[in-house]
Amino acid sequence: SEESDWDLAEFLDGEDAEEHVAVPTLAVVGRPNVGKSTLVNRIIGRREAVVEDIPGVTRDRVSYEANWAGRRFMVQDTGGWEPDAKGLQQSVARQAELAMNTADAILLVVDAVVGATGTDEAAVRVLRRSKTPVILVANKVDDARTEAEAAALWSLGLGEPHMVSATHGRGTGDLLDEVLRVLPETPREGTGGTGPRRVALVGKPNVGKSSLLNKLSGDERSVVHDVAGTTVDPVDSLVELGGKVWKFVDTAGLRKKVSHASGHEFYASLRTKGAIEAAEVAILLIDASKPITEQDLRVLSMVAETGRALVLAFNKWDLVDEDRRLMLEKEIDRELVRVPWAQRVNISAHTGRAVQKLVPALETALESWDKRIPTGRLNNWLKEVVAATPPPMRGGRLPRIMFATQAGTRPPTFVLFTTGFLEAGYRRFLERRLREEFGFDGSPVRISVRVRE
Ligand code: GDP
Ligand code: GDP
Repeated sequence: SEESDWDLAEFLDGEDAEEHVAVPTLAVVGRPNVGKSTLVNRIIGRREAVVEDIPGVTRDRVSYEANWAGRRFMVQDTGGWEPDAKGLQQSVARQAELAMNTADAILLVVDAVVGATGTDEAAVRVLRRSKTPVILVANKVDDARTEAEAAALWSLGLGEPHMVSATHGRGTGDLLDEVLRVLPETPREGTGGTGPRRVALVGKPNVGKSSLLNKLSGDERSVVHDVAGTTVDPVDSLVELGGKVWKFVDTAGLRKKVSHASGHEFYASLRTKGAIEAAEVAILLIDASKPITEQDLRVLSMVAETGRALVLAFNKWDLVDEDRRLMLEKEIDRELVRVPWAQRVNISAHTGRAVQKLVPALETALESWDKRIPTGRLNNWLKEVVAATPPPMRGGRLPRIMFATQAGTRPPTFVLFTTGFLEAGYRRFLERRLREEFGFDGSPVRISVRVRE
């Protein structure tokens, strides 16, 4: 690969100085295969980089830092989630809805070669109501010939289709100029560290979500209000806890108590996924009085995949006796190995036991989720760890770890620049050491490896 790929100065430039300045977010939405990830890579200035994610972590909504014409912003790749064909329209519409609620500008990407599909139109129907600026991107316009086809996308009613080729870079500069024109200087409320933090209350049916929400909110202090720009679902609850207001997202269903009849399960899981994505931190409720189930782990996977901060709340603690407690410890060791970093709180929504402990757990988790390690400190630490415990040989060669940087927060995302692949075991070792050194309780941490062969 080219030397310029290794021009690391760009990563360092001003990074530590601007550590805590909140920047606006650009969400990239659209159906699968229209080229969202390719476009995101183009925007963040990554080449055909070998970025290998941790195994088991699927591609999903990840935010990256971008810089165009001296302005910094976050780019959110919403790709990845591809349910069956029936659910596709709904999931893309949902994605658009979430972007409207959380981003500062939206790129709707359409494949100009294929033309507008029913799924694209479903997204457009949602986005037409958007108060957040939307830019229509006609991708895969690799040459002048395709421009005529792209022009047909005017019919979507979202204004001018901005013609680009994400793979070749054609038109992307103009597109970014347009992005900067519509992107506000500062992030909207709730996305940049101001405004209430967003919490998703999730867990299988009957685990006690409604009971906990009622317990936390009481009757007087909670305020329910509609989220701007949406007509259907997301109704959030503002709840004051520990002297701070928190936004419990998408709690309408909890308050109304929708039925759990079979057939609703797919929609219930869609809804759970949506709530998690709209939130910054999830409280996963688990029934402590009964064995941990497959369903609990499914919801846990959703949280893990979306990269949100997490608090585990073991509910119905009033029903837990000593025998059950010992059993539960074993189940936790066995079933929750993938989130050893999650904080646990044992509560009873019924009696109110320990529910106030949720607040410090949420705060710690969010602090970790937002945390940025200055590049200098990170590399000093890395040098020491690698010197003491070098990575195992691969193909007779010792991979060299040249440099690390924290490419993003929410969740903390690290990129290691190496001269060879690092085995999963070694990456897990690095993550463990990273957590020992810097904390990150309550937050997932991502480590990508960028290899120069
Ligand atoms: P996503 O699912 O929307 O994130 O789409 P991807 O970024 O994974 O791209 C889907 C496919 O379209 C890949 O094979 C890309 O190489 C291809 N693709 C993306 N952008 C372009 C483009 O501008 N021109 C052409 N010809 N292909 C593209
Ligand atoms: P949801 O489906 O997750 O919203 O669960 P609900 O809040 O409707 O609770 C389901 C059932 O569990 C109800 O009968 C609640 O009274 C009961 N429940 C909820 N939390 C607790 C708890 O902490 N202790 C006990 N004993 N029962 C609880």
